[in-house]
Amino acid sequence: MRTVPDFPKPGISYKDITPLIEDGDALHAATDALHGATKHLEYDRILSAEARGFVFGTALAYRARKGLILARKPNKLPRETISASYDLEYGTDILEAHADSVSEGARVLVADDLLATGGTARAMCDLVESAGGTVAGVAFLIELGYLDGRSRLKPYEVVSLITYA
Ligand code: AMP
Repeated sequence: MRTVPDFPKPGISYKDITPLIEDGDALHAATDALHGATKHLEYDRILSAEARGFVFGTALAYRARKGLILARKPNKLPRETISASYDLEYGTDILEAHADSVSEGARVLVADDLLATGGTARAMCDLVESAGGTVAGVAFLIELGYLDGRSRLKPYEVVSLITYA
């Protein structure tokens, strides 16, 4: 992975995961490691958000032989949706999932590439709970520890493979 300073704006230290995704051995190892770190969790489906979340969500779903639920930006999904909003630096954004993707009592693992402030993952957890499901845990490849996104994800179990302190 590469750290790109001042992207997308001054002061942000951007973690570019594209070199890892482009390397077959690295992508395989990262997927296996994510699977190893989450296999103690009991879940039925994985929920991931576009776009980079889909990369690891899909890889993990394949490895664990679980289904994948897509969380998308508004108006991308064709059928009835449920939604959850989350704060951006200025304003809010919304994630949607199909209303019938999370059934009552379903156990869902939330997975994303990177935990920064935790707003995106929190919105995915809210989606699961609003549909009557249970969050089995939240998994990331990378955690920016200095932003303490983990505290927004209480009381869920948070798993991450690489932490930038
Ligand atoms: P957050 O909601 O603040 O936890 O942000 C998480 C989402 O934003 C992740 O899905 C990342 O893809 C992206 N993101 C936030 N901060 C960074 C960063 N410093 N480097 C790369 N991606 C980031």
